[in-house]
Amino acid sequence: MRNSTSNWLDNAKVWGQHSPCTRRKVGAIIVARPWDADFLVLGKGFNVGPEDEPSCEQGGCPRGRLSYEECAAYSDYRSGPGRCHATHAEVRAIEDFTKDMDGVTIDASVPGWGFRLPYRPIMFVSEVPCKYCWKAIDHAGIGAIFPKGPRR
Ligand SMILES: [Zn+2]
Ligand SMILES: [Zn+2]
Repeated sequence: MRNSTSNWLDNAKVWGQHSPCTRRKVGAIIVARPWDADFLVLGKGFNVGPEDEPSCEQGGCPRGRLSYEECAAYSDYRSGPGRCHATHAEVRAIEDFTKDMDGVTIDASVPGWGFRLPYRPIMFVSEVPCKYCWKAIDHAGIGAIFPKGPRR
């Protein structure tokens, strides 16, 4: 049970609690299972704003400053009053995953980053990824598992 899907989704949710965002805390964990070994954690991320801007907790959250009437859940993250200043959990997890990729075999035939791994990484996300993150996940050539819900 330790490696069950629901357990990894729970882990992603718990990790997401590290996010400073007052509006929504999202966590993402990239894991892989090399052959018969245990699952490996390859990367982790939670949503966080830019270092040089006030954090969400410090009132910097563009979404958090608005009421739910002014900025509905899942409204556009990239423009308008609800423009989110954060790098999303999924992208942070991919950055974490790829940061020490030096020395990994490069295989141009693999879509995305061009890294060849003997196994396919899977990202567990505590929420349904937004369309921008979905692109990043696709581009990285990894699978994703997230709670049931409409795609945005
Ligand atoms: Zn925020
Ligand atoms: Zn996103």
